[in-house]
Amino acid sequence: MSQFRDDLSLASGWVADYLERVRDLPVVSQVAPGDIRSALPASPPEAPEDFATVLADLEQVLLPGVTHWNHPRFFAWFANTGSEPGVLGELLTAALNVNVMTWLSSPAGTELEVTVLDWLAQLLGLPSGLHGHIEDTASTSTIAVLAAARTLRPGGVVYASEQANFVVEKAARLVGLEYREVEVDSEFRMRADFPLDDATAVVATAGTTGTTSVDPVATLAARCAEAGVWLHVDAAYAGSAAICPELRWCLDGCEHADSIVVNPHKWLFTPMDCSTLWTRRPEAFHDAFAIRRDYMESTDAALDLKDYGPALGRRFRALKLWLVLRMYGAEGLRALIREHVRLAQLFASWVDAEPGWEVAAPHPFSTVCFHHAGSDSDEIARRANATGKLFVSTAGLGGRTVIRLAIGNGQTTEDDVRLAWEVLCASVP
Ligand code: PLP
Repeated sequence: MSQFRDDLSLASGWVADYLERVRDLPVVSQVAPGDIRSALPASPPEAPEDFATVLADLEQVLLPGVTHWNHPRFFAWFANTGSEPGVLGELLTAALNVNVMTWLSSPAGTELEVTVLDWLAQLLGLPSGLHGHIEDTASTSTIAVLAAARTLRPGGVVYASEQANFVVEKAARLVGLEYREVEVDSEFRMRADFPLDDATAVVATAGTTGTTSVDPVATLAARCAEAGVWLHVDAAYAGSAAICPELRWCLDGCEHADSIVVNPHKWLFTPMDCSTLWTRRPEAFHDAFAIRRDYMESTDAALDLKDYGPALGRRFRALKLWLVLRMYGAEGLRALIREHVRLAQLFASWVDAEPGWEVAAPHPFSTVCFHHAGSDSDEIARRANATGKLFVSTAGLGGRTVIRLAIGNGQTTEDDVRLAWEVLCASVP
């Protein structure tokens, strides 16, 4: 045990140092495919090795192959944060190592999960009384949702906008439902005038992956209610913004949706993985997933979370979210979200003011899509990323490619965003 205490202090020292020095590391790994594999032994060790040796290999062999998601100038896809409270939560989770399958398998795991989901629903302004649970990712949440929707209307079509994340199509495929894309309007929002007669579910997105556009959820909700069709809202990224009252409009209409997903592992400072899913139709999830066997006792009066999603084994993810909500407090989380939105608006104003550059889509949150007239966006992004100073991604939009700068790391400052802009300007061929 005393060796473990020494190892733990070595590990915690490494983690604290890493979070301090990550800003000085190249954001994107500079290794070539196969480099890391060839630096690792082909076979596992026969004799035990000590932690210090393994940690040295993490530093020397693996770290060069890490693209640093926890870097303050990681602006690709949706930037996120393995925050200090979240890191502590992961440590405690591994030590407890509980499996939140049934109430009996972890009473605290089960009851903390529903409590934390209830807290977060309050912070987001969602209606009270929703059933909430945690899945690993929005990918899995969407599979769970479509499986639940299918119990009410089997064999129909899943509609989502052409800007919806491909995980919706993946989920539809997995549960054996046909998938159809719906056109978007000039601001990349799903059109709401498509026929619903053959639909099992409609998936609206609040904060699409490309431009962060928000589909007309209230209109879709009214149409789905009339047609008896399940409405799911994918708010994986932008939903977190609703903790700020002035941004709560992004979830307008969600009070009438059948289910909604928000990913705290995207923009709520919670380490991978944590996807929060609420529904007002828990019985449909139960019908889709509940199976009883005599080797797993259930307590009739209690909640068995294994009955609401695809997995039996479930990590104690609520613990890290609990730490995040408590250690930042709602005001700490709001301050960070507001700062990210402010920085994104500032960045967009620099793009607007610079001849040759153009903002390509509305940017209500912390993500800006832009391009340089006459230059190849992929080439600019490639050159900028090769400097190691930042990481941006690109997206196809209305027949052209644009650069996306997504702010979401808790350590990002105005200086980081300014440096990114300078590097991007210098990267025009
Ligand atoms: N929905 C949206 C809008 C997303 O942007 C993403 C990922 O970026 C997903 C769903 C998928 O999330 P996950 O990686 O948690 O499956």
